Amino acid sequence: MMKFSELDLKPEILKALTDMSYQDLTPIQERAFSPILKGRDLLARAETGSGKTAACGIPLVQMIDPSLNAIQALILVPTRELAFQYVEEIDKISKFTDVTPFAIFGGFSMEIQKAKLRDRVHILVATPGRLIDFLYNTKSIDLSCVRTLVLDEADEMLKMGFIEDVDFILSCLIHEHQTLFFAATMPEEIDRLVKTYLKGPVRLELNKEQISPQSLVHHFQYTGRQDRLKALIEYLKKEEINQAIIFCNSRHHGEKLTKELEGKFKSIGYIHGGLEQSRRISIFERFRRNEITFMVATDIAGRGLDFSHVSHVINYDYPFGMESYTHRTGRTGRMGRSGTAMTFVTDEELKGLQSLFQVNRIDPVWHGHIPDLQAVSKHRGRQDGKRYFKRGSRPIPRRRTPSDNSPVKVTFSVSPVVTA
Ligand code: ADP
Ligand code: MG
Repeated sequence: MMKFSELDLKPEILKALTDMSYQDLTPIQERAFSPILKGRDLLARAETGSGKTAACGIPLVQMIDPSLNAIQALILVPTRELAFQYVEEIDKISKFTDVTPFAIFGGFSMEIQKAKLRDRVHILVATPGRLIDFLYNTKSIDLSCVRTLVLDEADEMLKMGFIEDVDFILSCLIHEHQTLFFAATMPEEIDRLVKTYLKGPVRLELNKEQISPQSLVHHFQYTGRQDRLKALIEYLKKEEINQAIIFCNSRHHGEKLTKELEGKFKSIGYIHGGLEQSRRISIFERFRRNEITFMVATDIAGRGLDFSHVSHVINYDYPFGMESYTHRTGRTGRMGRSGTAMTFVTDEELKGLQSLFQVNRIDPVWHGHIPDLQAVSKHRGRQDGKRYFKRGSRPIPRRRTPSDNSPVKVTFSVSPVVTA
C-alpha cells in the first residue's frame, strides 16, 4: 500500500491530507494518480465507498495553476447533494493552497453564485441543469481554460435525461482537454457510449470481480405486499441500528411510510426531490451529523453520498435495476466499515432476484423462508397462477383485513375506437 507522503505532492496538499487523516492511498487513488497527472483520459471503475472523490480531487488540486484566475477543471455530478459533498472534499484537500473550488447547483440564488464565479473559481463542481442555466442566460462562466472535465457517476450522467445536457456542455468545450469518468457501475449499453467521449483512455476497472464492498452483508426477506410494513417495523425494532436509510421508489410512497414510522420511532427524516433545496441540504447535513437515525429516501440519496455512520441500508421498495441496488446499498459498508443491506422482496420481484445475485455476486442471507428462485425463473413469473409459497408457510402470517373478504371490484376501461 502506498502512502501519500511518497507521492510528489505539494506540501500544502500533504498537510491537508494529514489533517483529514488520509495516510494510505486506496487502490483507485493509487492507480488513477499518475494517468491523471499525465493528462490522459481515464475511465475509473471502483466499488462504492472506495475513495473516488479524492482519487480525482487530489491530482486536480495538484495540477491547478492558482496564478491563473480561470476555471481549469469542471466536474459534473448528477445531484445537488453530491455537488455539495464533492466540493466539500475538494475544499478540504485544497485548504492550505490558493486553489479555489466552488459548486453551483439548483435551488439556490443564481445571483450569489454569479458573484463568486466572477471573482475567482479554479475548480467548478456543477449539476448539469444549473450549469446550463448559467451558460444560456449569463456570461459569468467562461469554460475556455478548462483542462480537465470530470463526470462523476459517469454511467448515470450518460443515461437518458442527462446525456442531452452533458452533450450541450461538451459542445462548449471545443478546445483540447482531458476527460475523466468515475463510476461504480457501468452497464453495457453505457459502456459502448463511453468510447465516443474518451480518447485512448486508461481503463481502470477495479471492481469487475467485486461489485460491492466485501464489508457489506446482503440480507433479504420475502414478504407479501400487505405484510411488508409490519416486517419492516419488526426488523427496525430488533436490529441494532446506528443509522439507516430506508429507500422507497416514489415520493408518495416515501411520504406514507414516513408517517407510519413517525408514530413508532423517534428521529425519522424524509428526503426527496420535491423538498425545497435548503431543507434538502439541512436534512442531509443533520443525517450526516448523526442527528437523525432513520432517513426515508427516494433515489436522490442513492448515488455517491457518503455517510459514515450508516449501518443499514434498507430497500423497503425493491430498487429498479441492478445498478440502483449497488448504489443504494453502497451508502453503507464504505471504506472497509461493516454494513448491512436489507431488501424486502415480494412475489413480483422474485423473478429478477437470481440475476441480481449472479451479476452482483451476492451471497444472500435470508430472513424467514427462502424462496425457490430456480422454480421462479423456470416458470417465468407467475404464469402458472401458483404462489411460490403455501400460504401458511409465509414468514409473517397474513393479517386479515376487512377488504380481504370484500368482493372484488372489477372495472372495465373502454378505450376509444379510432376510425381512420
Ligand atoms: P466513492 O466515491 O468511491 O463512493 P468517496 O470518495 O465518497 O467514495 O469516499 C468514501 C469515504 O472514504 C469518504 O468518507 C472519504 O473521506 C474517505 N476516504 C477517501 N480516501 C481516503 C483515504 N485515502 N484514507 C482514508 N479515508 C479516505
Ligand atoms: Mg463517489
